[in-house]
Amino acid sequence: MKKIIMTAIAGSLPKPAWLAEPEKIWAPWQLSGQPLKEAKSDAMRLAVDDQLRAGISMIGDGEQTRQHFVTTFIEGLTGVDFVNRKTVRIRDRYDALVPVVVDKVTRPHSIFLEDAKKLRALTQQPIKFTLPGPMTMVDTLYDNFYKSRQKLAWAFAEILNEEAIELAAIGIDVVQFDEPAFNVFFDEVKDWGVKTLERAAQNLTCKSAVHICYGYGIEANVKWKNSLVGEWRQYEHVFPMLASSHIDQVSLECQNSRVPIELIGMLKGKDILVGAIDVANHQIETPEQVAQVLRNALKYSDIEHVYGCTNCGMVPLPREVASAKLRALAAGADLLNKELGLD
Ligand code: ZN
Repeated sequence: MKKIIMTAIAGSLPKPAWLAEPEKIWAPWQLSGQPLKEAKSDAMRLAVDDQLRAGISMIGDGEQTRQHFVTTFIEGLTGVDFVNRKTVRIRDRYDALVPVVVDKVTRPHSIFLEDAKKLRALTQQPIKFTLPGPMTMVDTLYDNFYKSRQKLAWAFAEILNEEAIELAAIGIDVVQFDEPAFNVFFDEVKDWGVKTLERAAQNLTCKSAVHICYGYGIEANVKWKNSLVGEWRQYEHVFPMLASSHIDQVSLECQNSRVPIELIGMLKGKDILVGAIDVANHQIETPEQVAQVLRNALKYSDIEHVYGCTNCGMVPLPREVASAKLRALAAGADLLNKELGLD
């Protein structure tokens, strides 16, 4: 049993301006070739350093080597055309020009293994590595080959599993699959979403996690969230299935959301990465605001299962805002640990 409430980030952190244009998703790289390779490694070191200095317990790479959490993984696969893109509606919310599946998808080599090894070498603390989830991958592409979201998701799940097993083998403590699509396509989640997620996490020798949120703090997501009436009960569709799955951890959006916190009571026995940092504003939470969200979570989950986390990735935020939010997250967990006599 762990002795204190630990902290982690959901996934991404902002990139330095010398690496990619700030405050933008899919921001193009500012360099190319060897200088880009070095700059990505340097940025990862800074992202790790920021988390360590803030006092975060479970460390991530801040996704500094990826232009986007989904498409960068797909760039490493065969069967996808990145040149002749097509427009699709993502998460039923906004249009984006995305790559097209034109053939059977395969993974000829590891995609993030070298990055993961670099992360492992940067800290002795537990580390988490994020991968896109199968359904969210399907929802970020145009499919001109499988002609079935389920079949394509299954193909991705098998590929993700190969990658995840390699990550676990080099000492990654948690492999997390990002599935924001789980909050939108409830029928598909029920039919095949959780099954493909479990396939992706099959036989992992480390812990597995799934991150389900209401999206980055970009305009399309903020508008969508404002359009949701009353309480946000989307998680209610997926939690019972996750509760009976072999996934170990669930990362959620809680701070400033209208998610009824008692829903986490449906996830008995799972670790809950409680989103205590809002990624859709530039206001820095006070440690007390962070502690309050975690305190509420403790009413419905056992203390050894509660982690403080961010609501979602912070890539679209200004760097200094994200750094301050990291410090607030760690300070909030600290405050509660002291209050509970756990430090
Ligand atoms: Zn998210």
